[in-house]
Amino acid sequence: MFDTVLIANRGEIALRIQRACRTLGLRTVAAYSQADREAPHVRHADIAVCIGPAAAGRSYLDATAILLAAQATGAGAIHPGYGFLSENADFAARVAEAGLVFIGPDAACIHTMGDKVAAKAAMRAAGVPCVPGSDGALPDEPEAVRRIAAETGYPVLLKAAGGGGGRGMRVVREEGALLEALALVREEARRAFGNPAIYVEAYLPTPRHVEIQVLADGQGNAVWLGTRDCSLQRRHQKVLEEAPAPGLDPASVAEVGDACAEACRRIGYRGAGTFEFLYEDGRFYFIEMNTRVQVEHPVTEMVTGLDIVAGGIRVARGEPLSLRQSDIVTRGHAFECRINAEDPVTFAPAPGRIARFDVPGGPGVRVDSHAGAGTVVPPHYDSLIAKLIVHAPTRGEALARLRVALSETRIEGIATNLPLHARILADAVFAAGGVDIHHLEAMLGRAA
Ligand code: ADP
Repeated sequence: MFDTVLIANRGEIALRIQRACRTLGLRTVAAYSQADREAPHVRHADIAVCIGPAAAGRSYLDATAILLAAQATGAGAIHPGYGFLSENADFAARVAEAGLVFIGPDAACIHTMGDKVAAKAAMRAAGVPCVPGSDGALPDEPEAVRRIAAETGYPVLLKAAGGGGGRGMRVVREEGALLEALALVREEARRAFGNPAIYVEAYLPTPRHVEIQVLADGQGNAVWLGTRDCSLQRRHQKVLEEAPAPGLDPASVAEVGDACAEACRRIGYRGAGTFEFLYEDGRFYFIEMNTRVQVEHPVTEMVTGLDIVAGGIRVARGEPLSLRQSDIVTRGHAFECRINAEDPVTFAPAPGRIARFDVPGGPGVRVDSHAGAGTVVPPHYDSLIAKLIVHAPTRGEALARLRVALSETRIEGIATNLPLHARILADAVFAAGGVDIHHLEAMLGRAA
């Protein structure tokens, strides 16, 4: 089995993966772009290879360059992290064809989950509750489309089967607007995703975003690791997450969690993964599965005491999962603030050199970051520079710890969203728990 892992990513997640590899006694290869030559995971790597210029298309998204780097350095496995090539089924297939291990599920699983119509069908078959709507892609005949939308019940949401990143969706409030909206989404989907298939779902007015973390070995063993609430979003981008999702009925969570684990066993899923749900009026509705490690995985690590990244690597090495569902115990409550290099008012990315970075500390405080004083935040990538994570026995104590930790955090030289986090932590409705996915934008709208 492999003893050297090539990390095909950058930023905090590259460092996080490297830490897991080194803890497991594995060697690491950092495949980095010219903009990241000073990154800490490059410095700590056993071998570092520059795979191209800063532009992601010519480095972190260049599958050929990454495969060449793996072969040239004797890496036996590739960890894709999140973003970039992590949910690219063709890349996973090429890694396997090159005789290397892709740390994640196989290409077929990624392909199925990347097609939302196929994903929903697979989930329904495993007993995972889904948003009501068309069973598959919408047909061409206008009459049939009208009938399906009417049966679903207005308002409906038209969604592209190949959509992602919050794109390729349109709300339709009445039948008169249906066909025109369908033509628009179809055209958008054809252009953006190369897949014109559209399906319809009931539009839920005020859901929460609740997700379930899983870990599976592809050998018939799968566990679920509790819930996260990621309802605080702006333009479909998560801002602050927590685990567990507050105020849910444990029996219905367990039922849905068991269905997620069962779905993993059925599709032969291997690795860490996340089932995303909308949650409204006490019910879960599956929307999609992320077939990779997620940005917010640390809140689950804090409440379960498990190392999810190391777990994903171990199952990729062929180790059967030693955990049973009865071994999974969650303790206390955790929060994560995503600290971005962005203008606090306009939210525009704010690259530049960090002049000062005061990192908070104390009991239950964790900071996952590749950045520090002197780090240059390049303009080419995602603006995430740090994740501030806290854990405490109760939600209230965790919030108190988060407020203190946030007040200790100081970043100078570039603009960040630290003021946004301070505002969220001062919001009484958020503090009470259980806000819906529109809460943050409503809060920002009121202030503007
Ligand atoms: P993407 O892959 O683009 O992120 P998702 O299916 O995860 O697409 O949906 C993105 C977001 O759109 C969700 O987080 C939620 O805010 C909203 N959304 C999706 N489906 C529905 C629905 N049926 N009703 C209401 N909102 C929805």
